[in-house]
Amino acid sequence: MEACGCIEPQWPHDELLVKYQYLSDFFIALAYFSIPLELVYFVKKSAFFPYRWVLMQFGAFIVLCGATHLINLWTYNVHSRTVALVMAIAKISTAIVSCATALMLVHIIPDLLSVKTRELFLKNKAEELDREMGLIRTQEETGRHVRMLTHEIRSTLDRHTILKTTLVELGRTLGLEECALWMPTRTGLNLQLSHTLRHQIPVGSTVSIQLPVVNQVFSSNRAMRIPHSCPLARIRPLSGRYVPPEVVAVRVPLLHLSNFQVHDWPELSAKGYAVMVLMLPSDSARKWHVHELELVEVVADQVAVALSHASILEESMRAQDLLMEQNVALDLARREAEMAICARNDFLAVMNHEMRTPMHAIIVLSSLLLETELSPEQRVMVETVLKSSNLLATLINDVLDLSRLEDGSLELDIGNFNLHSSFREVINLVKPVAAVKKLSMSLILAPELPVFTVGDEKRLMQIILNVAGNAVKFTKEGYVSVTATVAKPESLRDPRAPEFYPVSSDGHFYLRVQVKDSGCGISPQDTHLFTKFAQSRTGTNRNQGGTGLGLAICKRFVNLMEGHIWLESEGPGKGCTATFVVKLGFSDGSNQSMQQVVPMARTNYGVADLYEPKALSKDEKGVIYSQPRYQRSV
Ligand code: ADP
Repeated sequence: MEACGCIEPQWPHDELLVKYQYLSDFFIALAYFSIPLELVYFVKKSAFFPYRWVLMQFGAFIVLCGATHLINLWTYNVHSRTVALVMAIAKISTAIVSCATALMLVHIIPDLLSVKTRELFLKNKAEELDREMGLIRTQEETGRHVRMLTHEIRSTLDRHTILKTTLVELGRTLGLEECALWMPTRTGLNLQLSHTLRHQIPVGSTVSIQLPVVNQVFSSNRAMRIPHSCPLARIRPLSGRYVPPEVVAVRVPLLHLSNFQVHDWPELSAKGYAVMVLMLPSDSARKWHVHELELVEVVADQVAVALSHASILEESMRAQDLLMEQNVALDLARREAEMAICARNDFLAVMNHEMRTPMHAIIVLSSLLLETELSPEQRVMVETVLKSSNLLATLINDVLDLSRLEDGSLELDIGNFNLHSSFREVINLVKPVAAVKKLSMSLILAPELPVFTVGDEKRLMQIILNVAGNAVKFTKEGYVSVTATVAKPESLRDPRAPEFYPVSSDGHFYLRVQVKDSGCGISPQDTHLFTKFAQSRTGTNRNQGGTGLGLAICKRFVNLMEGHIWLESEGPGKGCTATFVVKLGFSDGSNQSMQQVVPMARTNYGVADLYEPKALSKDEKGVIYSQPRYQRSV
């Protein structure tokens, strides 16, 4: 700023120079006055300007400078003392205000400069934010692509379509020249080119899994750049004149596929990774961007998930097919079983009627024949006929019983009966044979055993007869003892038969019968003796002419009587103990006498019911020719 001094009137002055100075002073004054006006105007407009008072000071300084120049206009000519005084005052004021302003600026300028720094900082921040926004936008874009790709990939659950869609979508989204997939082979030693986007798959395109580049791709879940010349990138025919393309490869985990038997795609049953190779156009200057690589990685993971879903679906569909096949087979088997049951029922009906009737006739007639005069040879022959007929009748009855037990049509015939007599009667039946074999035979009935009980007498006798008959049959020398006691339910718990759960109740008791013999015993392997047609697998008790039905029938009868049966033996040659427990009712003993009970119970017995009970004891020679139905061959 020009000093606001006044031109000394005593100086010689050039007319033109003075004119110029005069004009300049005028314009300087005008400018000086207009600047504060502008300042006032703009400060008024900006509500947040923090240095208002500085501005006012500055404005005053400028106005005073302007005033000095203005007053200077009157000093070019001869001027009065008043003008000189005003001039002096203006200059003094200007000096004071300008010094104060200069001092003030020393404080304000650093402040203003820091504002500038802050502005710079903010600008940098804004640029950074812009960059981040750009990044977010890129990520959003990537996310959108991933969503789109995922949707496309997951819209199908067929593995080939998933892979083909992935390659097509990736190729379109990233503008790829080629995109291919290398799958592990069945042996897991090689990778085989299985899908490409544009080019034909060359025959025998395999690379070893041991290659360093393959190992490198397998070892990381990131998409990585690979040289365009490496075997994984050899997807399309080489052309001489292109700028080498930028190639990346990423592993695709084959999730959980090893858990499923993938039959039609053996290469997938190998555990591990597939490799996806992506190639940018060769003659463009395009490079892979970070967000593009991220997209590729995410897509690789999505493909892995989709493949595993597809595999699970295929597996479940296969299981469903299998199930349907099994259902059809089961249905067929059911129908066959139903037909077999029909056939069996027909056969039983025939057996029941057509075979038993002639059998009755043979037994009756042979028995009658025995009553007549016969030569010894004839007697032996008729006795043999009778014995064989009895055996056959027993077999028929056993088979019928078993069938009825199995189809659930056999029900117990409950009534009052004399328990002690039943035991004695059975012992009388087996005694003759025991006598022939010179076995000692004993029956022990515990004193607490009730005489009259309620139950199915004929089935109980059949069980005792079967078990005691076996004991006699499988014992060559020694003894057979039958012991009957009343058992406490608590003492009957057997961990080997958890399904047998005895409970005590009023009016009932558990009869425990133990048949001990000193016979050939059974071996520990014989665990199946209670099943139909069971025979000992080892030992001397094989092939004794039995049918293997006796114990099976006993078990079912015992079960019907809420009981339990088992065999014990210390081994072959060490005898055998057959024990069974059945639930019987206490009888008041008043309604029927023994003589009434037994014949009544027998009325259902069939063959032997034709004979009086007395006839049973007729046997002096050990030949059982008038046995009741429950008589078995011993
Ligand atoms: P079977 O008509 O053959 O006697 P069972 O069902 O009555 O049929 O018996 C099945 C098998 O159990 C017999 O063949 C025999 O091997 C074995 N068995 C049964 N009781 C005895 C016993 N007291 N001593 C030895 N083995 C026995």
